[in-house]
Amino acid sequence: MEYSSFRAPCLNTAGNPEVVLLECVMKTGIPEFQVAGLAPSRAREAMERLSCGLQMHGLRFGHKRITVNVEGRPDPDLVELLDLPILVTILLAQKNRLPGLMGNATCLGKLSLSGAIRPLNQPARLLAVAGHLGFQRMLSHISYPLKLCDGSATPERIETIQDLLRGNEKPVNCSPIIEREQIGPVSQAGSITYGRKVMRAAVAAAEARHSLMCLGPPGSGKTTLAGAIYEMLPPADETEAREIFFRNQSEQEPGQRPFRRPHHSSTVVAMIGGGTPIRCGEVTRANHGMLLLDELGEFRREVLQSLREPMDNYFVHISRGNHREALPCHNWWIATANPCKCGMAGSSGVCRCTEASVRQYQTRMLGALEDRIDIQLFVESDGACTGWDEINLWRENLRNAQQKRTRSGGYRFNADIEDLERWCILEGGAYERFHRETEGWSNRKKHRIRRLARSIADMSGAAWIQMEHLLEALRYSYAGMAISQESAKAPSLYG
Ligand SMILES: [Zn+2]
Repeated sequence: MEYSSFRAPCLNTAGNPEVVLLECVMKTGIPEFQVAGLAPSRAREAMERLSCGLQMHGLRFGHKRITVNVEGRPDPDLVELLDLPILVTILLAQKNRLPGLMGNATCLGKLSLSGAIRPLNQPARLLAVAGHLGFQRMLSHISYPLKLCDGSATPERIETIQDLLRGNEKPVNCSPIIEREQIGPVSQAGSITYGRKVMRAAVAAAEARHSLMCLGPPGSGKTTLAGAIYEMLPPADETEAREIFFRNQSEQEPGQRPFRRPHHSSTVVAMIGGGTPIRCGEVTRANHGMLLLDELGEFRREVLQSLREPMDNYFVHISRGNHREALPCHNWWIATANPCKCGMAGSSGVCRCTEASVRQYQTRMLGALEDRIDIQLFVESDGACTGWDEINLWRENLRNAQQKRTRSGGYRFNADIEDLERWCILEGGAYERFHRETEGWSNRKKHRIRRLARSIADMSGAAWIQMEHLLEALRYSYAGMAISQESAKAPSLYG
């Protein structure tokens, strides 16, 4: 009896990378070939393709009973790509030497009936999966040039089983696949006309990943502001870029962060994931990118409540039977909403709602998320426009300060700082003022304000948080959220 095993990279149904273990046992006996561990129809198809392919190449196994077991939870859409790994497992059991697969190398590919290996769809995505799972090289048929970081040209490839056996071709290196582009100043600079307060909040949200909520009357440019924040997001680092890549089912430009805008009729499962087998939801599809909750007030209550865990932990934990998944969602959380049913409360227009109904509307919308939103912003187009030179200076200051902190063991984004006493030091009077102003607030909200003040101080290039930075952060904590119409119109308490 001969035994062999082989590991192949794959994604599971939830979109998480997973190593699939293939084992083959070969016994002398009546010729038979079976694949276990896959859905019966998939297994039958795989066996057909493999037998035909092998016959076309004149490869025979004599009087052998071959059993291949597939261990793992591969996404049904990707099962076909296991043809080549299954074949390799059989060839290894037969004591074939496969020079191309020495060391920490793997392979993926679908076989055609002629024994040719089909070109991979989305090769960069699959290479990113392999790299994430720790494989160094991958053997496959890649039919078009990939942009590789190390400057190498089209990777060498295999097109038939004979190529695989000869081992003439070098596998593709799967670690440095993504060339990241530096994101410069926003291209549509001229088309945005927001005041200073709005733009400072936008910069803090984009660069330091603070969650932001835009409130304002219809047509005030809330969604446009969200688009502008998206364009200001910092470039992805290597780990992020790889994750963005393998979660993205459409072929996007390398390094481009996802932008998801789920409809307000979405269900809890569509939003955070679930089902059997477990699939990921919108929050995970937006991982390392922006999740825009447009018209927050229209979302179902249970959907809003389900967003609490992901907003706190950047992960959704789902278990179904013995299947558990942690679905990441390191998102920029941006929401827009009307301040009341008619949309005019707090603006220069006339609101026809009663005070009680405005309050009810806002409580329903924010009840679950209130203290998870760092910046609350009332947006009304006022024609005043902040210069891009100034905006870019804020971005640069903030980005540099965060990079310095990351290097000395801090966090990549200010919104994630845990050690507040170390990184968010309040200077002099700001400390007392902070405790006075935030008395009775939840700890979560207090911490969020302090982190936001850190970002504001960074924008001005300050080492410690001073009174002016704290006051500015406090202005973003409730401004616009002033529940009654009168107080929303009145200048803010801290203004
Ligand atoms: Zn109203």
